Amino acid sequence: MPQFIVASADLDLARGRATLHGPEAKHCTAVVRLRAGDPILLTDGSGRRWQGTCAGAGGSRVQVEQLQPLAANEPGLHLELLQGLPKGDRWDDVLEKGTELGVTAFRPLYTARSVPHIPLPRLDKRMQRWHEKLRAALKQCERGRLPLLEEPAPLDRCLRHLGPCGTGELRLVLAERASGEPWPDSGATRTIRLAVGPEGGWAPEERQLLQDANFRPVSLGPRILRTDTAALAGCALVMQRWGDLVSADARW
Ligand code: SAM
Repeated sequence: MPQFIVASADLDLARGRATLHGPEAKHCTAVVRLRAGDPILLTDGSGRRWQGTCAGAGGSRVQVEQLQPLAANEPGLHLELLQGLPKGDRWDDVLEKGTELGVTAFRPLYTARSVPHIPLPRLDKRMQRWHEKLRAALKQCERGRLPLLEEPAPLDRCLRHLGPCGTGELRLVLAERASGEPWPDSGATRTIRLAVGPEGGWAPEERQLLQDANFRPVSLGPRILRTDTAALAGCALVMQRWGDLVSADARW
């Protein structure tokens, strides 16, 4: 069933109604071609979701009625991905697929061996494009909460911002060519911060910074994965061990 994002101001929960406007309405009518009577899913991106019925479309708006609340479809685990900003549109792919896998916050990093800083005049546009990726992925995977996306920041500044490792938090760094420390046992972990190096890998001083901030090195095996592959493989493993990637409820 297709899911769309509705602005909170366009929800009338007392009457069980909502209105989609602009690009969301256009997507609904011109791309998905919903008609009156068709079922539809809505979220406002804050964790709330509903199922409703398309009541009709006209001009650039779509009316939805009979809204019934649904579960947020969010993982119990808070997974933050800290990643050396990759080249080109690889970061777009990480945002899209990471959202599907359940990442709750993305922190792109400027590192010694990653792409140069994005000049400020271009950053706004880039952030807009990245936010669009998150919205599209949220719709496709039927999640209810838009992940947080921070502006790219140097690693040391990001680590200062995170502060000390909290209770119930585990910090992991994907370390290529590491001697293979075992992944920690599953436990009462509620937050995982996963750091992934850029195309050129971590510089020695960055490894030290990560170690000082309690990031434990873990390996993804003997092959050297491209940074975007490593990020997604790491997220999938984390969600399988501590999150909800594996469900006992597999029915077609
Ligand atoms: N240029 C580096 C080299 O040749 O050693 C490779 C960097 S790799 C393309 C980018 C990042 O992906 C690494 O810093 C690491 O975080 C992650 N990565 C890639 N393969 C990995 C593996 N087998 N185990 C753990 N992390 C890996």
